Amino acid sequence: MIIIMSSTATRQEIKDIEKILSDMNLKIHLSKGEFKTLIGAIGDKRCLDTETILLMPGVEQVVPIMKPYKLVGRELQPHNTIVKIGDIEIGGKEIIIMAGPCAVESEMQLYQTAEVVKNAGAKILRGGAFKPRTSPYAFQGLEEEGLKMLEEARNRTGLKVVTEVMDTKDVELVAKYADILQVGARNMQNFKLLNEVGQTQKPILLKRGISATIEEWLMAAEYILAAGNPNIILCERGIRTYETYTRNTLDLSAIPVVKEYSHLPIIVDPSHATGTYKFVAPLSKGAIATGADGLIIEVHKDPCIAKCDGPQSLKPEKFEQLMEELKAVAKAVGRIL
Ligand code: PEP
Ligand code: MN
Repeated sequence: MIIIMSSTATRQEIKDIEKILSDMNLKIHLSKGEFKTLIGAIGDKRCLDTETILLMPGVEQVVPIMKPYKLVGRELQPHNTIVKIGDIEIGGKEIIIMAGPCAVESEMQLYQTAEVVKNAGAKILRGGAFKPRTSPYAFQGLEEEGLKMLEEARNRTGLKVVTEVMDTKDVELVAKYADILQVGARNMQNFKLLNEVGQTQKPILLKRGISATIEEWLMAAEYILAAGNPNIILCERGIRTYETYTRNTLDLSAIPVVKEYSHLPIIVDPSHATGTYKFVAPLSKGAIATGADGLIIEVHKDPCIAKCDGPQSLKPEKFEQLMEELKAVAKAVGRIL
């Protein structure tokens, strides 16, 4: 439920409401707007007497939250969340580009790619050290050794680092090296993992599950926020449909839909969505035109010998060209890149 305080409500009046709610073991979420404060009460409200709350000084209205996601929805927090990673803001006017190889393979591969993407204008370096592979015989990642390379790449370039964490037992380790923890599509409903990353204050990149509805995805984000971490970036990376000419089907409609119902920023991964480097550029442009706050793109110096996802990786020159082209699209929709 949302308790809407009047614009003249005093700090003490807000505190008095908070006291009643916390005495009933309800979770409180304050949303301070320009004129009014909204107090969200999340939990079992059966013993809460709405009439009494309505009579309290400073209270204007009491309304239920209609959606099952209470904290990530716009009902309780109408204004956009901006996730800050140092001086980078995701969800503001600037489009943020994350780029790099699918997997960290070697020092040389990573450092060279990091330089390329940085010089082209990317702000965040991607690279998996723990890889969720369909086959148990495929390259599984360099694990901590790969994390150390990511750290060194950050030191060399100043880029921030996003990398996947697959297991609750690795959250602390990955958080030691990464600026953003990625929860991959296959783990979108790993509720233990969501809860664990929710207990850190690290920004979380939450990918949409391969067959997840938007509501299931927002409920996954709700787990992270309910555990205490509001720094969530959603990532649309294509969903499974009957189509076989692309690896997945990029759901561009998810961008305006998510923006309608949630205050969280959303970025797009055109690489995993299409599986083919040729389709990455047009869909990147489409994503920005549709309102995405950023992109995460796979780039490899030599895709033919990539240990993972070579066919969908852009060569450096293609990435550089795309970055130039994206500037015009960003400008056309009132954003900057
Ligand atoms: C990735 O980004 O490295 C990845 C495995 O993506 P997804 O979880 O979207 O398949
Ligand atoms: Mn990949």
